[in-house]
Amino acid sequence: MQRTIGALRETFFDLLILGGGITGGGVALDGVLRGFRVGLIDKGDFASGTSSASSKLIHGGLRYLEHGGFHLVYEALHERRLLLENAAHLVHPLRFIIPFYKDSRVPTWKYRAGLTLYDLLAGPSNLRRSRPLRFPHLRREFSGLRSVGLHGGACYVDAQMDDARLCLEVVHTAALHGACVANYVEAIGFEQRGGEITGVRAVDRVSGAEFSIRARQIVNATGPWLDTVCRLAGDHTGPHLRPTKGIHVIAPDRGLTSAFLLLHPTDGRVFFVIPWLGKTLIGTTDTHWEQGPDALMVADLDVEYTLAGYNHYFAPPLERSDILNSFAGLRPLIRTRSGEPSSLSREFQLFWSPSGLLSVAGGKYTTYRRMAEVVTDAAVRRFGRGRRSRTRNFRLHGAPGEAWGKFEPGAVSALCSRHGLDEKSARHLVGRYGQCARDVAAYFERDRTLAQPVLLGEPDLRAEFPYQRDHEMAIYPADHLLRRTRLGLFRPELARVG
Ligand SMILES: Cc1cc2nc3c(=O)[nH]c(=O)nc-3n(C[C@H](O)[C@H](O)[C@H](O)COP(=O)(O)OP(=O)(O)OC[C@H]3O[C@@H](n4cnc5c(N)ncnc54)[C@H](O)[C@@H]3O)c2cc1C
Repeated sequence: MQRTIGALRETFFDLLILGGGITGGGVALDGVLRGFRVGLIDKGDFASGTSSASSKLIHGGLRYLEHGGFHLVYEALHERRLLLENAAHLVHPLRFIIPFYKDSRVPTWKYRAGLTLYDLLAGPSNLRRSRPLRFPHLRREFSGLRSVGLHGGACYVDAQMDDARLCLEVVHTAALHGACVANYVEAIGFEQRGGEITGVRAVDRVSGAEFSIRARQIVNATGPWLDTVCRLAGDHTGPHLRPTKGIHVIAPDRGLTSAFLLLHPTDGRVFFVIPWLGKTLIGTTDTHWEQGPDALMVADLDVEYTLAGYNHYFAPPLERSDILNSFAGLRPLIRTRSGEPSSLSREFQLFWSPSGLLSVAGGKYTTYRRMAEVVTDAAVRRFGRGRRSRTRNFRLHGAPGEAWGKFEPGAVSALCSRHGLDEKSARHLVGRYGQCARDVAAYFERDRTLAQPVLLGEPDLRAEFPYQRDHEMAIYPADHLLRRTRLGLFRPELARVG
């Protein structure tokens, strides 16, 4: 994947997409696979917005059933199945535990009914049927779980991903099929003729150069920045969004063999405790955020709330000093008249500006493929020629052609025997790069020290950095540390130096 500024200047695109998060990446892939000339730019790095700050779940969203979001859950559960095949190296099943407490806001019967409905909505896409767990089982497997008031529980299976890398693989796949993609290129204005948008003014944030990009259709997929970009295009009909902030706290591994779905003791909101990349992720919050996406930050109160939730259920408690880091993301939710953030819809919507700009807002990571299909359908209806979307069964870059359970052991042992890697390192490379793990390992031939870990105690290998520079458009240290690896997230002092 190369940064093709020259081609961005020279090509007349069918589709130019602003925003290289999962939504924009998805539209780029859908468009290019239909045979369109596609351009994609992001003002920062790909996935540098919300798409690297999610809870990392590919899920139907059990909690949306409480608000009657059956259609959303159904669609997401089916997209989950597709992603487990199309991005098998990055999306994996994960067991969730729901402990039942006597004083819970949600009664046990409601959980049971919800889980049965979840199983039914998944139908043939179900990963495993949910099942009840008895109190002694919970005590045995999770000795740190609060037992006062606990009388049983249930488990079900959803899926987990590496969000930033999944977004990168979507953009990478689009680029491999001919999309012209560039990070650090910002849309700063629009060019219009006869009231119709014909292109954008863009600035390359690496060189400082300004230039125009011309396109028949421009798609605004800038997530939380959607209203800013609409206004830039002269559309003042908004705001369309009511963004809410969600934070996560990262703690060292708490030894959990499963994720937990829990209710916060102060307000009864759902939050998760999730094992992720050898660490424990706790979150999330859901509060209105009016200050704009560029000012987003984690507040002390957010961290306190999150720790209070964890410490209500688990011992030993987590202190602030135990925390490795925290991060915030902004949900680009559609503005409705309803009040509470948690009840704001996770559905998505398209908006046409009078000048022809097509904007897409809302949605979930899990359903990005379906969103992209609908956006591209809407764009091509204007062109009058419409090929059908091909993304349903399309493997992403790095994804193996066979089932993960078959592919992974062979790929790991090939890396061990060919490159003398230990099993842990080989498993790490295969888990992150899938089929392309061998391309990362090829760097060992040039310099054997590249087979060593970057940091003691973390699985990331030195060869990943030159590979990311050469093949994944990493430009700045933060691109390597925060999105292509997560070292900077787990060791924030590194990212600050970067
Ligand atoms: C806390 C939290 C947890 C979540 N957890 C989950 C989950 O577990 N599962 C799930 O399915 N969904 C989850 N979501 C939802 C999901 O993460 C988002 O719906 C999704 O990431 C939004 O992606 P996006 O591409 O629309 O926006 P973004 O990822 O924010 O992308 C927008 C991009 O536009 C770029 N941009 C902005 N302005 C310009 C410009 N002028 N020119 C060029 N580029 C520009 C930005 O740099 C940015 O990269 C979560 C969301 C949050 C906040």
